Amino acid sequence: MGISTLDDLTVEDATVGVRVDINSPLTADGRLADDARLDAHVGTLDELLDRGGRVAVLAHQGRPGGDEFAGLEDHAARLDEMLEYPVAYCDATFSAEARDAIAALDAGEAVLLENTRFYSEEYMEFPAEEAAETFLVDRLVPAFDVFVNDAFAAAHRSQPSMIGFPPRLPSYAGRVMERELDVLGHIEETPRPRVYALGGAKIADALDVAESVLERDLADQILTSGMTGNAFLEASGVWIGDPSHDAIVDRDATAIDDASALLEEYGDRINVPEDVAIGRDGERVEVAVEDLPVDQPALDVGDRTIAAYADTFETAGTAILNGPPGVFEEERFAKGTKEVFAAATRAEYSIVGGGDTAAALRRHGIEGFDHVSTGGGAALRMLTGDSLPAVEVLRR
Ligand code: ADP
Ligand code: MG
Repeated sequence: MGISTLDDLTVEDATVGVRVDINSPLTADGRLADDARLDAHVGTLDELLDRGGRVAVLAHQGRPGGDEFAGLEDHAARLDEMLEYPVAYCDATFSAEARDAIAALDAGEAVLLENTRFYSEEYMEFPAEEAAETFLVDRLVPAFDVFVNDAFAAAHRSQPSMIGFPPRLPSYAGRVMERELDVLGHIEETPRPRVYALGGAKIADALDVAESVLERDLADQILTSGMTGNAFLEASGVWIGDPSHDAIVDRDATAIDDASALLEEYGDRINVPEDVAIGRDGERVEVAVEDLPVDQPALDVGDRTIAAYADTFETAGTAILNGPPGVFEEERFAKGTKEVFAAATRAEYSIVGGGDTAAALRRHGIEGFDHVSTGGGAALRMLTGDSLPAVEVLRR
């Protein structure tokens, strides 16, 4: 793939700067609520340490002004427990204090540097050559021998810590990055028929993916659900009712027109829900398309849709999923997510991606996918065939 991996790197005694994505949900009092993102990088970090590296880890958490903007002390303590090697925490990112902490590392020791987004440059997007001259990169380059990027989930961002090191240091993809590129970069080689299930609430992104995979003949069927499914349902000429309509238009003013255009051109390959679930008196009530509109928002797909989609997966070579089919956070609207996702694992080969999608899998204990992507936005960008800036700089 033209990208060097850890197989190409001599780690022993090298000081390795490693960018990971451990941006995680936090509790109300700012503690780590979920360590799945940390867990994903354990393999890369343990391997580098096991091979005698001195490892300095860069990561971000939240965004300035947001609820989940926080330091990484908790993340470091958790990584220290999860890894076979010690992980210290340094409350600086690239100052003299940070560089001293890196210089003090022995082989087989790691330090997690402070949230890169505490520095304003890290919240800007740059061309690689300019990112390479930012303070963060300029001051850390002398402290590192090599750079490893394992942060696939942030690979669509042109921020200094993501793209600034490769122009200046020998750079490698970590194991998470390598596996994601192996899988998501070779969709066209997966078995057919290839079925894409697009749900969730990012309607515009789902429409982009649908258009791209239909245009490039990568998709044999598209199964729509979630708010995306509601938009396609309305585009197919079914009036769902004001609450669902308003929710769609609120998210994406052109969604229904865009969905109509896709139905017009590729209608035979796009499946829309046959029924929906709404809430009434605290209960789940299913409403068939023939009985629409309803005056409550459609928050899940119903049994008929679930059965139809499950049938399609039964004979699918590949299932590719993004976005939950319903509001899985509420038990009565989780049925579509649980059953459609479980059915998708029966395809010969199955891939799933997305932040909330991965949370839905964990919450409902859904297992059996061949690949669970760590990336939301990055995975979607790859599904549309776009390149990712942090991957492009590794390719040079
Ligand atoms: P991902 O993070 O996996 O890419 P999205 O962010 O696009 O997925 O969508 C996740 C959200 O979509 C979830 O919070 C879920 O509650 C919501 N959702 C799913 N179906 C519906 C629906 N019919 N109406 C409103 N929200 C929905
Ligand atoms: Mg999401």
